[in-house]
This record gives sequence, C-alpha cells and structure tokens, in this order.
Amino acid sequence: MRRSIRYQMVGLVGLMLVGALAVYLFLANGIVGSDKLSSLRDVTEVLARTAAGQVDASLDALGGKLRYFGRARPEPLTLFDEADGVLSLKLYQRSGTEWVELMSWVADGAPTAVGDSPDLTPLQLDLVKVAGMVVQNVSVGGTALARITVAATDEVVVSAKVRPDRLLRPGGAHPMYRVYLLDAGGQVLAHLDAAKVLSRADLAALPVVNDALRAEGPAGASEYRSAEGDFIAAWARTAKAQLVVVAEAPREEAFRATRQLTTRALVFGAAMIGLAVGLAIYFSRRVSQPLLALEQTIKRIAHGELGAEVEMKSTAEIGSLAESFNQMSRELARRSEELDQKNQQLVQSEKMSAIGELSAGLAHEVKNPMVGIVGFAQLGQESTSLDEAREYFALIDSDAQRANGILQNLLEFARPPDVEQEVLEFNQVVQGAVRLTAHQLQLNGVRMHVEYADGLPKIRGNGNQLRQVLLNLLMNASQAMEGALEKHLYVQTKGGDAGAQVSVRDVGPGIAPEAQARIFEPFFTTKPRGKGTGLGLSVSRSIIEAHRGEIRVESELGKGATFFIRLPSADELRESAPAFPEVDDLKATRH
Ligand code: ADP
Repeated sequence: MRRSIRYQMVGLVGLMLVGALAVYLFLANGIVGSDKLSSLRDVTEVLARTAAGQVDASLDALGGKLRYFGRARPEPLTLFDEADGVLSLKLYQRSGTEWVELMSWVADGAPTAVGDSPDLTPLQLDLVKVAGMVVQNVSVGGTALARITVAATDEVVVSAKVRPDRLLRPGGAHPMYRVYLLDAGGQVLAHLDAAKVLSRADLAALPVVNDALRAEGPAGASEYRSAEGDFIAAWARTAKAQLVVVAEAPREEAFRATRQLTTRALVFGAAMIGLAVGLAIYFSRRVSQPLLALEQTIKRIAHGELGAEVEMKSTAEIGSLAESFNQMSRELARRSEELDQKNQQLVQSEKMSAIGELSAGLAHEVKNPMVGIVGFAQLGQESTSLDEAREYFALIDSDAQRANGILQNLLEFARPPDVEQEVLEFNQVVQGAVRLTAHQLQLNGVRMHVEYADGLPKIRGNGNQLRQVLLNLLMNASQAMEGALEKHLYVQTKGGDAGAQVSVRDVGPGIAPEAQARIFEPFFTTKPRGKGTGLGLSVSRSIIEAHRGEIRVESELGKGATFFIRLPSADELRESAPAFPEVDDLKATRH
C-alpha cells in the first residue's frame, strides 16, 4: 500500500520519540535505580550503625553505674537519675555455689508489674559473669521492660529493669525507616510495634536477622522479602551485650521518588510526543499540501490542460518548486501550440502533395466535361430551333455540373484543416476517397474492387482528414504496383462490435518485415528523392489515433500489402471518452 509522505513523516517522528523515550526511561531507571539502591543500602547501614552506637553509649553509661552500685552500694536515688530510667534494681551475691539476692529496690512510681510480677526469664548469673553484661526482654503483661544485668565483681551481679526505649528510640529515624533492637538470640527488645516487644517476638527467622546472628562482622546490609513486602535492610551489632540493631525500609516506599520520576518522565514524554506529532502533522501538511496541489495540476496537464498552473501560497523550497513547475507548464503549452501548428502545416502539405499526385487524373476528369461543354456550345450556336438549343443548354449544364462537382470535391479536400467533428457514414467517407482517386488509378492501370458492407455503425470524426488517410493508402498501393503486370486494388468495409473497419489490399511487392516496423515513422520512405516524403503514413497514424482508432499493416514479401483501419463507433466514443479529441491533438512527429 502506498502511504502518504505525511503519514510517513508523522509515523517516523512518533516512532523516534517513543524509541527515545523508551531508551531514556530504560537507562534512567537502570542508573537511578541502581544508584538509589546502593545509596539506600549505605544509608540504612549507617542508620543501623549509628543506632547501635547509641545503644552502646546508653549501655556503657548504665552499665558503669550498675557496676559502681554493685561495688559501693550507695542509695539508688543518689546514683541513678531520671535520665537513666531505672525502674528496679536487684543485687545478687555469690555464696559458695549459690547466688543470694541481697537487695531489691523498686523506684517510686514504677509500674506495679515491675515489682509484682514474677521474673519470667531465668537469670543465669554465672553466664552474666562470663559475658560481663546481659540484656533481656522481661516485659510483663502490658508493660514493656528490658533487664540489664552486669557483673560488678566476681562475686556480685546487679540487674536493673528499664523501659526498652531508654536503650533505643525506635521512632527516632525517618518515618520511612524502621529501627529495632534485638537481643543476642533474635528476640525483640525495642520496636515501634509495642506488641512485638510485649510478646517478646522472636525475629530470628527474618533473613536480615538471621544474617546478623550468623555473621562475624559488626554490620551488614541485605534485601529480603517477607509477608509484609520487600525490604532494604541493614544490621549492626553493639559492642556490649551482642545486641543487634536492625534498620530497614520498605522497598516500595524507598523507591517512591524513583517511581514518581518515571511517571512524571512518562507524562512529560507523552506530552512532548503529542506536541511533536502535532507539529509534525502541521509541518508535513505544509509540505504535502503543495505537493498534492502539484500532483493535481500534473494530472490536469496529463489530461491535456497544458499551461495549467499550481497556486502558490508557500514560500522557500516548495514555492520555488511551484514557480519552476508553472514555468515548465507555460513552456509546455507554448511548445505544444507550436507543435500543433507545425502538425497542421504538415497535414496540409501532405495533402497538397497528394493533390499534386492526383492532378493528372483530376485534370482529365475536368477536361472531359469541358470538351463536352465546348462541343455542345458550338452545336448550340448552329442549332436552328430554340428547342434544339435548349437541349444543348441542358447538356452543357450537366457537363458544367459534373466539372463543378469535381472541382468542388477538390476544393473541399484542399481547404485548410478544420477541427470540426461530426457523425459520419463510414461508407460515404470511403466512397469520397475512392472517387477522388478513381481516375488517377485508372490512368495508372489499376483495377479497383470496392465492396461496401451494409449496416455499418456511424462514426464520429473529421471527414476531410479521414479521406486524406484513405487517399494516402490508395495512392501508396497504386505506386507499389507500378510496373506490375496485374494491378488490382481491393477496398472493403466491414462492421462489427469493434466499430467500422476498412481494408485496402494491393497485389504489389509487399513490405519487408524490418520495413513494416518503420513505415509509420515520419520521413521513412523507400521511394526515390522527390517522389516520396515519408510523411504519408505517419500523418495517417496521427489522424487515426486522434480519432481513437487504429491503423496497422499485414504484408508478406511478394504477396502484396493490406492496410487495416478501425474506427470506434460514435456510440462507443460517447460512452468511453466524453470529449472527443480535437484535431489540434495530432502528434504526428512525436512518435
Ligand atoms: P511515402 O509514400 O512518401 O514514401 P509513406 O509514409 O506513405 O511515405 O510510406 C512510407 C513507405 O511505406 C513507403 O516509402 C513504402 O516503402 C512503404 N509502403 C507504403 N504503402 C505500401 C504498399 N502498399 N506496398 C508496399 N510498400 C508500401
């Protein structure tokens, strides 16, 4: 299918922009995404490390005070202030293999759960001695509690209960991040989700926690997928008590800005594509419309409207193209007019040369009645009665009419070409040509055999020109048979679906195949200089083609030649070609 240049341009622009946008988004997403991921990992890890540092600082301060308390045993309120947040204290002393609780203190205003509820987590004091410090989740009922146990001396262990958020404030970081504290076994110590603290949730199964518990190093980052979604997570271990701080951010949220960037880029890109396609349509229309106008004008010229000009609105290249085109069209019209004039001259001169050839026969034709007129005039002068004289006058009149008819016929034929078309009886046209040449052919010793078919369709054309064509065929045939013993010329008309047809057959030498291909060319002649112009058949073909007919030859060397002319019926012409081509359209020398 042929697509218009406009659609091609718009399609190309659209395709290029969509391609550019897709490549841009792909690259930008890749680069921004991977960049963002690595920076998120870094930030999360820094967050986890910082939080672990804070926990260490808190534990350091509190641990120091607890150890001092274990050794010096001052009044608790003089040692622990509000910032320490100590809710209760217990002091154990080793006695042989046993540990004995020497002291228990509960701060004023501490939740009842601190003192009342039994200790759910067994405290392995020997373990504390080895580890130096143990931190555990000892939440009870609805109260979140963390217990810090330190070995003050080899014999003394002190434990204190504090609110877990004293160690780590889970909501301290950016709301996108979730920071929580786990003990050395993966149990939650401090978490934004209080339920997890109260239930002492075990998060060891979470990939990031699992990594943290198994890894050797102080910190690490990992991404994981859980029922809650995808997370970018990092962990850091505290120097004291082997606690683990996890910082994590939902991937979805972390990449929200990137997604927004993509969405905005898409919207912006779509808007730009729309704009570009709109502009492409606008500009391509500016280019294609003058081209369309040019095409229309070319079609008009092709239909014969030479000189048709394209309207010029645009400037620059298209404008100058249109200007050149208009110049060409004007030039074409001028040359065509010149050519038509030359053609007409050619047709006319060919006609005159035919008349020249006919002159001997015509002179004879006119001479006979003249001789009659002179004879009857003399006899009339000698006549004795008016009746006798009247008879001679009648004979003189008849001969004069005959001579006049012949001259009239000749004048008719010789007059300058007219362009009038009329509906004609084909047989009459043929008969006209036969009559004009009859005498000449008779003088040349040619025997004519003419056969007119009945019921031929009427044709439409210029009788004078058609007679000229037939006359040319008849004279050519007669000349071809010059010197032959038997000179027969057969003229036959025929009708049918294909319009009207006439054949002119002679028994001359025929035409060689290579000459057959050239006889319709202008100036092709085999006759001696001064005898033939080589224009007869070329002009004949122009005339027949201008009548939408065809002329062709069939010949075999030594067996004569037959020329066929076919012309469409007047009815057929009316249906197929509304405007009958003017004789001006003759293009004799253009083949
Ligand atoms: P011209 O008669 O001036 O030569 P035409 O165009 O009428 O020009 O004819 C071209 C040539 O075609 C002639 O020179 C002749 O060779 C050949 N020709 C035309 N009619 C016949 C014919 N009936 N038989 C043989 N040759 C022919």
